[in-house]
Amino acid sequence: MWRPCEKGARPCIIVSIVCKGCFVPMITAQSDTHLTTIGFDADDTLWHNERFFRMTQQRFAELLSDHAETADLDDRLLEAERRNLGHYGFGIKGFVLSMIETAIEVTEQRVPASVIAEILAIGREMLRHPIELLPHARAAVEAAAETHRVILITKGDLLDQERKLAQSGLGELFDAVEIVSDKTPDAYLQIFARHGAGAARGLMLGNSMKSDVLPMIEAGGWGIHVPFHMEWDLEKAEAPEGHPRFRVLGDLGGLRALIDEIG
Ligand SMILES: [Mg+2]
Repeated sequence: MWRPCEKGARPCIIVSIVCKGCFVPMITAQSDTHLTTIGFDADDTLWHNERFFRMTQQRFAELLSDHAETADLDDRLLEAERRNLGHYGFGIKGFVLSMIETAIEVTEQRVPASVIAEILAIGREMLRHPIELLPHARAAVEAAAETHRVILITKGDLLDQERKLAQSGLGELFDAVEIVSDKTPDAYLQIFARHGAGAARGLMLGNSMKSDVLPMIEAGGWGIHVPFHMEWDLEKAEAPEGHPRFRVLGDLGGLRALIDEIG
């Protein structure tokens, strides 16, 4: 059961933070470099996400097929998303607003209200999409939780991320949940200090090189890339090949062995 954080209770979260409050794995400090905390990304690491954006984008293209070619529409939508990230943050609501903005743009401000209504409707559908776990998701979190503190670190719309976590059935496995506006080195420094012995003794894994791997390595921790076959263009980045704290996992089934290897 989830319950509000209580003073002195472990584990705890903040703002978007909920806490598990029952079992905290013993963290035995075998050395100053021993890992204490494992951070999991959520979308397209533990459960499907990007495919719902792709499906919606296809419907958006059909809605506006009289006004723009699909490739051109995709480019304009991506540009709108890029412009709007600083205003709306990550998540479905910002995506819907960017679709509306793009519809106004490609129709030279003549988009029918019925199309706007349809865009809003497909956005609401996205907010109801079912949660489908990726292979090994539950087993990987359970295995990591046997020996380490495990935290979920995700960004996006707060309500939507809370909904997805609740529906995933994984919530009670985590010692803490952090829903942040962006995944920056500073965010990782703070989170891993709050839930362990700092980023240097933390490991973050996820499908986004840009958000899950690079900023964690910059914060001094381990960045583990778990590639997913669909990737949002704005999450792409070069891999830090050769960095001693960078690893790639084909899927979550290999996590336990990797944790044991790193120590
Ligand atoms: Mg992700």
